[in-house]
Amino acid sequence: MRESKQYSRRQLFTQFARPPVNKPQLVISNTCDNLYGYCESCIDICSEQAILWQVDKKPSIDAEKCTLCQQCIGACFINAISITD
Ligand code: SF4
Ligand code: SF4
Repeated sequence: MRESKQYSRRQLFTQFARPPVNKPQLVISNTCDNLYGYCESCIDICSEQAILWQVDKKPSIDAEKCTLCQQCIGACFINAISITD
């Protein structure tokens, strides 16, 4: 009779679990004009309200709301926004 192999819970989670799928994300570089002056062009164009303006900082992006439509990339006049693979 063929024996069935027993796996521990740890083995099931560590060996057979699928690796997490890395979702592409938006990245704003340190060339963002809002660090040195004032800009909110990317915020204005985002229909999902996924970009949050911050005083003297780069805007932050809410990855949960972002649909990766890339409209903000085109709106940034200094190409400070990119998308990861
Ligand atoms: S990619 Fe689209 S949804 Fe995401 S932050 Fe930019 S404009 Fe908003
Ligand atoms: S449009 Fe570009 S420069 Fe302006 S706040 Fe957004 S990322 Fe910064």
